[in-house]
Amino acid sequence: MKIDVQLTTARKQKPASDQLVFGKTFTDHMFIMDYTAGTGWHDARIVPYQPITLDPASTVFHYGQTVFEGLKAYMTKDEQILLFRPEKNMQRMNRSNDRLCMPHIDEEFALEGLKQLITIERDWIPTAEGTSLYIRPFIIATEPYLGVSPSKRYQFIIILSPVGAYYKEGINPVKIAVENQYVRAAVGGTGNAKTAGNYAGSLKAQEVAEAAGYSQVLWLDGKEKQYIEEVGSMNIFFKINGEVVTPALNGSILEGVTRSSIIELLQHWNIPVTERRISIEELYQAYKEGLLEEAFGTGTAAVISPVGELFWNGEKLIINDGKTGELSTKLYDTLTGIQTGKVEDPFGWTV
Ligand code: PMP
Repeated sequence: MKIDVQLTTARKQKPASDQLVFGKTFTDHMFIMDYTAGTGWHDARIVPYQPITLDPASTVFHYGQTVFEGLKAYMTKDEQILLFRPEKNMQRMNRSNDRLCMPHIDEEFALEGLKQLITIERDWIPTAEGTSLYIRPFIIATEPYLGVSPSKRYQFIIILSPVGAYYKEGINPVKIAVENQYVRAAVGGTGNAKTAGNYAGSLKAQEVAEAAGYSQVLWLDGKEKQYIEEVGSMNIFFKINGEVVTPALNGSILEGVTRSSIIELLQHWNIPVTERRISIEELYQAYKEGLLEEAFGTGTAAVISPVGELFWNGEKLIINDGKTGELSTKLYDTLTGIQTGKVEDPFGWTV
């Protein structure tokens, strides 16, 4: 499929590197293609960034048939644009599509569309330390029909947003509350798909935790509220007595690209890493015995987010004296180094 390109005549003013906030500024252009049942994906185009007009009866507004992705582009010192494992995001988008009864995208073509869009927008990629161009591909169901059934029409859109350093001075530990009232996802539900409803449903717990002075919640499993799943919109890792443990994928956990990369990095370094079920009680016991050395969340936005305090059952668990651990720092430096082209990439992850 050919990609039509219509360039804007009114370029926007770019924000200063030190004034970037997450997800509020968008570039001059966007990528769109349409899907019609029977025809497939068609009319791929790069057009000026603009509002979209949809029928108010569109399925996405009523039943939430939509999926999204999140990844970043970085500008290297020698002005090359790097993407980090973008094929993983396209693969995950198709797994999400499957779960939401939405049509697959051609992963290679979507990546080609993304590359063309980013090439047009290359001046929007910030270059200051810690900054990047956040990429948000998403698909919405656009058929005007109020029946609860898979839409026959969709739009795939990619928008871009220059984003600042997640932390102003290096990586800082966050305070996390273990969530014991609300659940994010249940096995058999949509937790392992990147779909809007999971995030809408998580806002309440987030709001309550924030009011109590915590930045995110640690989600437990939806059935027994005993096993650890994720932290906010990140995957979670613990270093217990020299071994790194992360909850095994069980159907309700989102398979993070950062998570997979951390596991592969640890294996590469011969640091023991295990994917298994881990209960909050087991973690608490490890803490009491002084074996819980580090805890950190992983995700595209922050890359590594150390956990300095866990609030559970009325008790504050202070991890590593509330400081950023050695392993968290090493993982952060290595991964961000690979992503920005400063550290050699032995895995062939960057594109
Ligand atoms: N879990 C959830 C629920 C998320 O939304 C994200 C962010 N995509 C992650 C984990 C981390 O995934 P990734 O490393 O691919 O950003």
